Amino acid sequence: MAWFSKQKKVKAKESTPSAPPAPAAKGEGIWYKCDACENVVARAEWEKAWNVCPSCGQHDALPLRRRLDLVLDPGTFQELDAELTPQDPLGFVDSKRYRDRLRSTRKASGLRDAFVDGVGTIGGDQVSIGCFAFEFMGGSMGSVVGEKVARVFDRAYERRIPAIVFSSTGGARMQEGIFSLMQMAKTSAALNRFRAVRKPYVSVMLHPTTGGVAASFAWLGDVVIAEPKALIGFAGPRVIEQTIREKLPEGFQRSEFLLEHGMIDAIVPRPEMRDRLAQILGLLG
Ligand SMILES: [Zn+2]
Repeated sequence: MAWFSKQKKVKAKESTPSAPPAPAAKGEGIWYKCDACENVVARAEWEKAWNVCPSCGQHDALPLRRRLDLVLDPGTFQELDAELTPQDPLGFVDSKRYRDRLRSTRKASGLRDAFVDGVGTIGGDQVSIGCFAFEFMGGSMGSVVGEKVARVFDRAYERRIPAIVFSSTGGARMQEGIFSLMQMAKTSAALNRFRAVRKPYVSVMLHPTTGGVAASFAWLGDVVIAEPKALIGFAGPRVIEQTIREKLPEGFQRSEFLLEHGMIDAIVPRPEMRDRLAQILGLLG
C-alpha cells in the first residue's frame, strides 16, 4: 500500500499517547495529523468533514473538485472553457522555462490551468461558477485564468444568473508579466458589464487570497465571504512589516480581523457554505 511504503518520509515527532503510531506525512496514509492542534484522526473522517479538523475546526485546503461537490447540487456541475490552455507569450525563464513548468504542473495536477469554470445549481437555481486551484502554480492568475474569470461574468450576464467565484491565489502570474497584470482590469470590466443584469455576485475568499486577485474582482463581490482564518490581503504581512518597519497586530489580514474592520461581510465555516450561499442567492437572486 502506498501509505505503508511512504512511511520513511515521516519526521520523527513525539506522538500523543492516544495517537496511533507514526502518523503519515500530510497528504498520505490513513491517518491525518492536524497542523494546528496536532490531533490525529482517521483520514477518512477528516475527508468526510470536507478537510476540516474535527478537533479544532482548522480548514485545510480542499481540492477543487471537492469544493464544487461541497457547494453545488450533486451532479449539476457542467465544466465549460476546459479547452483553454496557457501559452508562453514572453518565452519566460526563471529557475526553469515557463512552458516546462506548465507541462509538469499540468501532469501533476491533471488541470490545464489554475481555474475551473462552468455552470451548476445551488438549491435548484442555476449559477455561473468558477474556482481557483491553488495547487496549480499557487493559483496564480495569467491570461487563461483571467479569461475564464471574465467568462464566469459574461456567462452570468448572458443567462441572467448569479455569479460565484472561489478564490485561493497568490495573485498575478509573474511568468506572464504584463499579460497577467492586465487581467485585473479585464476581469473587473467583465464584472462591471454583468452588473447591468442586477444579479448578485458572491465572492468567496479562501486561504490564501492575495495580490492582483484580491485587488480586483475578489473584493468586488456584492457579498464577500471568507472561510475562517483565511489569509486575505494584497501584499503579505512580512512584506508590509519590512516596508513600514512596524510590528503588525495579532491576526492581521486574517478573516476574523477583516470582518471586525468591515472589509468582508461574513465568515462562513465550510460545512455551512452551501446553505449560506443558497440563502444569499434566495435573498438577492
Ligand atoms: Zn485541529
